[in-house]
Amino acid sequence: MCGIIGYTGNRQARDVIISGLKRLEYRGYDSAGIVIGNGSIQLVKDKGGMANLESILPEMKGQYGIGHTRWATHGPPLKKNSHPHLDCKEEIALIHNGIIENNMALREELIQRGHKFKSDTDTEVIVHLLEELYHGNLEEAILKTVARLEGSYAIAAIHAKEKGKIVGARNISPLVVGIGKKENFLASDVPAILEYTDRMIYLLDEEIVTLLKDEVKIMDFQGKPVKRNWQKVEMNIEGAEKSGYEHFMLKEIFEQPDVIMDTFIGANLNTENGYSLNLKPDTIKIIACGTSYHAGYVGKYMFEEFAHVPTTVEIASEYRFSSITTSNPLIIGVSQSGETSDTLVALRIAKKRGLNTLGIVNIVGSTITREVDHVFYTRAGLEVGVAATKTYITQLIALLALAIKIGVAKETLGIDDARYLSNQLRKLPKHVRTILDGSEQIIQLAEEISKSKSMFFLGRNMNFPVALEGALKMKEISYIHAEGYPGGELKHGPLALVTKETPVIAIAVKDQTYEKMLGNIGEVSARGATVIGIGTEGDTELPKYADHVIYIPKVPPLFTPVLVSVVMQLLAYHVANVLGCEIDKPRHLAKSVTVE
Ligand code: GLU
Repeated sequence: MCGIIGYTGNRQARDVIISGLKRLEYRGYDSAGIVIGNGSIQLVKDKGGMANLESILPEMKGQYGIGHTRWATHGPPLKKNSHPHLDCKEEIALIHNGIIENNMALREELIQRGHKFKSDTDTEVIVHLLEELYHGNLEEAILKTVARLEGSYAIAAIHAKEKGKIVGARNISPLVVGIGKKENFLASDVPAILEYTDRMIYLLDEEIVTLLKDEVKIMDFQGKPVKRNWQKVEMNIEGAEKSGYEHFMLKEIFEQPDVIMDTFIGANLNTENGYSLNLKPDTIKIIACGTSYHAGYVGKYMFEEFAHVPTTVEIASEYRFSSITTSNPLIIGVSQSGETSDTLVALRIAKKRGLNTLGIVNIVGSTITREVDHVFYTRAGLEVGVAATKTYITQLIALLALAIKIGVAKETLGIDDARYLSNQLRKLPKHVRTILDGSEQIIQLAEEISKSKSMFFLGRNMNFPVALEGALKMKEISYIHAEGYPGGELKHGPLALVTKETPVIAIAVKDQTYEKMLGNIGEVSARGATVIGIGTEGDTELPKYADHVIYIPKVPPLFTPVLVSVVMQLLAYHVANVLGCEIDKPRHLAKSVTVE
């Protein structure tokens, strides 16, 4: 989730690269670096943003080079971990966006063969592999190197001896080529290069591109040449920053298939030793706030089902007042930023009590990650929209992965079951895409319910916290009052408020709660409420109860919260959009809450 840019042409590459990186900086990165080739490799990099990089940047002469803004996934934001990375001979420079899944195994292998590593990153294995496989032609070396890599990556590299040449490769992470006149560009995102050209070739997965100033060659991972025409980009820079979406929030909702995959890859469930985790708590307490609290609440059901560990969930700011500690507990703090004060303070209290702590955090090197005993990262990249979407979804994925691992450690989950579950997890991006593709129906329903003053969200069991999150999303961005309830609670009070003016969004997927949810839908329909049911595809019964049905693909029960949440996000977003709300910056709210 970083910014990549490469330039080859007649201009001073330094200027093009720096201006391109600045165009990507609206995403807020943690480190930056640049390499200019000119018969040798000139490298400048540091932690911090572009202002810092510019302040230390010397005059650098040369007409080709690459630059990077980093969003750390492996190793904290430090100078040594910043990109570009160099090989031992300092002839090859490489930048990378993504995660190399088999980096541990490759690192060991390369160290045994004498390579000296200078960083903690997963990326560095690539440049050492390139060094071994380089025999005078960079694209051939890249072709052989990608055959060894597993994971997600967009990379770009230059070699000191191959003047004017940049080679890039893509697998999952995006990479785009900009075609100029006697100059060519490579970038992770269009805004980085739109100032110079609007003629783009979007690389596809498993493609390698070689750029010279007057030539662009593409081949696939088998080495077969590929022909592709450029397309004209019609957007301005501001539109391009949002990848053409009207708001960052929508862009981030649509990024979810990719970040689910990145989080899954980062959780390392694919490899044999990915399941070995030395955590066998007797109880778990999850502490978090806001959306993270809802993710944690869903996590409770995962830990109880997969690992048979009784789990409680507590609002972080309330934890300080609780005094009961069970034996051998694991305290899990969930925080997107890793700086949330309420959660941080609660974790500190837990540590003072001598308890084992674990953080589920999106930002590498943040305060929580430094203070807890164990860290589990979500790999959502930077989220610009204040209302959490992709960071929440990746928290659900991290919790699922963690629950599977603890289940294996505690032997409540056999390795075959764990494998089955991780295979199902791998399929989630595809299912999320199916829901995103069905946005049209949700847009229509959003229009219909946008006039109401109040709404209810109902769910049971693990979909009860999803109802809470659905209501939270709705109120924070559309300012419509919304409440989430477990279906069974309606009759204990809230039913008094249900009228034909209050739409009800009811999660009625095919699991053990299904029949009961149909009953709840009956209750609210009888009071005149319009019901939007969220059901499992193929269910022909639900439309007989609900006024409208949005279907989600069939997945194991504990995975439904991921899919239902995506529906909820789209619904909230489109309601807020119909109402003309300031979606990315809702009133009174801040992205990272660093006050108690
Ligand atoms: N995984 C790499 C790192 O941690 C790349 C991160 C990025 O995409 O910025 O350095």
